[in-house]
Amino acid sequence: MSQRPGRSYKQRVQLRRTNIAKLGKEPFDVLVLGGGINGAVSAAALSARGARVALIDRVDFSGVTSQTSSNLAWGGIKYLETFEFGLVRKLCRARNELLRAFPSVVKEIRFTMAHQRGFRHGRWKLLMGAWLYWAIGSFFTRRPRMLSLRDIAREEPIVALDALDGGMEYSDAYLHDNDARFVWSFIRSALDRGCIAANYIESLGAERSGGLWGVRARDAISGGELRLTARALVNACGPYADEHNARSGQRTEHHHVFSKGIHVIVDRLTENRRVLTFFADDGRLFFVIPMGAKTCIGTTDTRVETPEVDVTPEDRRFVLDNINKRLRLSKPLTEADVIAERCGVRPLVVSGGGEGGRDWMQLSRKHVVEVNEAGAHLTIFGGKLTDCLNVGEEVCAAVERMGVRLPFREQRWYGEPPPEVRDEYFHQARLMGLDAMTSPRAHEKLSTRLWRRYAARALPMLDAIRSDPRNAEVLIEGAEYLRCEIEETARREMVTRLDDFLRRRSKIAQVVRREELRHAPGLREACRIFFGDEADAKLADYFGDVQGAIRTPALQA
Ligand SMILES: Cc1cc2nc3c(=O)[nH]c(=O)nc-3n(C[C@H](O)[C@H](O)[C@H](O)COP(=O)(O)OP(=O)(O)OC[C@H]3O[C@@H](n4cnc5c(N)ncnc54)[C@H](O)[C@@H]3O)c2cc1C
Repeated sequence: MSQRPGRSYKQRVQLRRTNIAKLGKEPFDVLVLGGGINGAVSAAALSARGARVALIDRVDFSGVTSQTSSNLAWGGIKYLETFEFGLVRKLCRARNELLRAFPSVVKEIRFTMAHQRGFRHGRWKLLMGAWLYWAIGSFFTRRPRMLSLRDIAREEPIVALDALDGGMEYSDAYLHDNDARFVWSFIRSALDRGCIAANYIESLGAERSGGLWGVRARDAISGGELRLTARALVNACGPYADEHNARSGQRTEHHHVFSKGIHVIVDRLTENRRVLTFFADDGRLFFVIPMGAKTCIGTTDTRVETPEVDVTPEDRRFVLDNINKRLRLSKPLTEADVIAERCGVRPLVVSGGGEGGRDWMQLSRKHVVEVNEAGAHLTIFGGKLTDCLNVGEEVCAAVERMGVRLPFREQRWYGEPPPEVRDEYFHQARLMGLDAMTSPRAHEKLSTRLWRRYAARALPMLDAIRSDPRNAEVLIEGAEYLRCEIEETARREMVTRLDDFLRRRSKIAQVVRREELRHAPGLREACRIFFGDEADAKLADYFGDVQGAIRTPALQA
């Protein structure tokens, strides 16, 4: 890998272009529609096990729901209230496996739960629930403990104590970088195993004839049309799964209803890396979650009819009012404190023609893989990021039942590189004094950050920095992105529009205010590395300065 500054832009844009050219060629074993978490794990698992796989997404990978979550890998403690013990057991196991397989990306984190006097469950009952949760989770995390008011005041002085009679602490896990970066890691791993994937390619519908699915698709960037064929079709279109099934004549037992959720991001409220947990005015769990040097607050749960949603002034007010009531801040948070927002719908699965019953918030968050074996078609409904490894396994099993041979059925398809690679990387980083180059504004060591973001690809980056120290320059201030990272991203991460990089491959757009970003000196240079001569046009497209620029859900955040 050459990381030298000045590598030609044309060499970098090849990935998407070559892949689009390959999409229309010979039939694939499996075509995955949608590159959110469910499509990404399906492609990663199937490719690793030897299938010939293609994946397309009508916007960017992770450009819809999977960029709007709370970034938690959690066993679903709240589902104990609805006695969904099976679901909690499954999610806890899934969380534990993520913690085991991705030790630098998925981290255990403590949740400090404040207990309001007169709440529907007593303090002891909540603690018993936390112990049960810990047991259901095979005691994998640190043990829960009761908190007195004095403990809370000492450990988290920002929590307002007036309405509380104590609290408790338990563990779950969170995605250190962000949900979209996590999804990208599966897309990249699928690409590394021969999957042909491309963003901004929309399926317009599918037809089956002669034992093959034919999909008519449109390139949202060029406007061109293409036709793909595959033996089996995986509909991982998330909230658009029903729409795609209607386009393809697929009748299913399940369908989706939608629950909108928003988060707001503000400057860091507390130095402690723990999640503060409250019950909001509507009785739902409400979180204050660390997000790098910032804090993410949410979420809401509002029933909506369609997946196209935006943050409304009422949503914003709800989040700010709830948090202002529960924290002791030097001055209340206002809209002016909001750096960025996240907004999406949870696709919730219901069966039959029902609407999920009357109790909206109790609707289960489980996933269902509905298989039409004879028609070689499957749809992934509902689910959570936390459960993604199970989805990958279930999709492999279903696709095999459809007659697609997976020659490497035992192949492990997820996880960080083995300890020897990690040890070699950290040893090399130590020898060259990499951590001394950590920016004074960064909140973690450079070696740790590079490993978490790029895993084994961080090794050649060390080489690039050794050959030319300019590769270790921070290119975008406030966002801690080095020149060699931008080069790597440009070459291997299919950044088609600037938003792909700022919002999903990185979380820059979530932690740097838009106006600051517009004037960030390094952004134009990063754009030149990504887009060459098109840099100015892509910048104008991102900042909405172009008449007729494509507006996609990817731009909502
Ligand atoms: C507010 C909120 C908080 C959440 N918090 C958590 C959490 O903390 N932990 C957790 O585990 N889960 C959480 N979830 C749930 C989780 O985010 C979702 O279950 C998950 O992201 C859904 O992934 P998906 O792949 O099914 O859908 P998506 O991510 O929406 O992916 C579907 C993809 O299909 C593409 N697509 C659609 N139509 C077409 C077409 N015709 N052709 C090609 N592509 C198409 C879309 O562009 C999209 O990228 C949360 C969800 C929300 C909304």
